[in-house]
Amino acid sequence: MKKQQLITELQSVGLKLVDHAQGASGRKGGAGPSDHKAVIVEGTVVMVPVYNSPAAESPYTVNTVVNANTSAEAMTLERQGERISSINFPSQPKFYNLTTADGIPYWKIALLHSQDVLATTVLQTCMRYGDTATSCQFCAIGQSLEAGRTIARKTPAQLAEVVEAAVRLDGVKHMVMTTGTPHTSDRGAAYLTECARVIKEKINIPIQAQCEPPDDFIWFERMKAAGIDSLGMHLEAADPQVRAAIMPGKATVPLEYYFEAFAAAVKVFGWGQVNTYLLAGLGDSAETLVEMCDRLIQIGVYPFVVPFVPITGTPLSQHPVPNSDWMFNLYQQISNLLKQAGMSSADIKAGCAKCGACSALSTFET
Ligand code: SF4
Repeated sequence: MKKQQLITELQSVGLKLVDHAQGASGRKGGAGPSDHKAVIVEGTVVMVPVYNSPAAESPYTVNTVVNANTSAEAMTLERQGERISSINFPSQPKFYNLTTADGIPYWKIALLHSQDVLATTVLQTCMRYGDTATSCQFCAIGQSLEAGRTIARKTPAQLAEVVEAAVRLDGVKHMVMTTGTPHTSDRGAAYLTECARVIKEKINIPIQAQCEPPDDFIWFERMKAAGIDSLGMHLEAADPQVRAAIMPGKATVPLEYYFEAFAAAVKVFGWGQVNTYLLAGLGDSAETLVEMCDRLIQIGVYPFVVPFVPITGTPLSQHPVPNSDWMFNLYQQISNLLKQAGMSSADIKAGCAKCGACSALSTFET
C-alpha cells in the first residue's frame, strides 16, 4: 500500500492500541483535533486517532516482534494480523518532567504535537461552549479542563518558561497558540498578542496564532508586531447549512466576514501565511470543499483540510468518519490546486498547516 493511502486510511479508521502507554502521551479532549496520538509511519509523523470509538474497531494494530538472533525488538503495523509496515512512536518529551515556579506541571501549559511542535490553548474556556445552541459539536475544549489535564488560562510568563524549556530540551521548532473564544470583540487576538510578545522577548521561535476573526483588523498588525508569524482563522466547514447545523454559534459569523478577514490578514502576514482548517466529513460535499479551497488559495490562504475525528464525549462522537477513498480523492484535487498556485505547507513559518500531522495533505504536495 502506498504511504499516502496508508496515512489517509489510518487517519480515518484509527489505530487499535492495546497498550496506550506506547510513545508520547496522546491528546484526549481539548480544542481542535483530538483523541489521537503521534505515530511515525515509514518516516512520517502523523496524528492517528487511538482513543475514539472508530479506533476501538480498527483493523490496524501494533505488534512487537523480537528478532530471534539479536533479541532486538521492533514494532510493526498490522492490518488484521498481516504486516503492513514498520511503525514507531516519538518519545515522551523531557520538558514534561518540569514544573513552573508556581507549581504547575509544564504539560498542563503546553503539549508536544507531532515531533517538534509545541501547542497550547491560551484560554481553555469558550463563550460558545457548554450550550448546545451555540457550541461547535465536534469540540472538546472543556473536557481536558474538567479532567484536570490543563489550566483555564496560561499566563504569558508561564508560556515563555515552557517554550524556552521545550526548545532547549526537546528541540521544538515552532509553536501553535490557539484559544477558546472569549466574550471580548477582539475574539482573543489581544491575549494572543500579549502572550506572543512575552514569549518572543524570551526566545525566538516561529509562532502561529489561531482565533476567530476579530472585530477590528488592526489586530492583525498588532499580532504581527508582537511576533506572531502566521495566522489561522478556521472555517471548519464550507457550506453555510453545514456550518449552521454543526456549529450554530460560530456560523453566525458569515463566510463573507471570514473572507474580508482573510484578505486583510494576508496583507499583513503574507501570501500563504494565513490558513484555515476545513474538517472533511462533517457534511460538505467534495465539490463544495474543492471550490472553497480554490477560492481560499486564490486569495493567498492555505486550506488545511483534515479528516473529521469523532471525539468521545462530544455530540458528534458517533458521527461517521470520512471514507478514506473519498479523502484520498479530495487530497489529490486540493494538492493539485496548491501545486498550480505554487503554495506549499513547507513555506509556512509556523503552525498546524506547517506541521501537517493531522492530515495527509502535505504528503500529496510533493
Ligand atoms: S497539525 Fe496542529 S493540531 Fe495537528 S499535530 Fe500538528 S500542531 Fe497539533
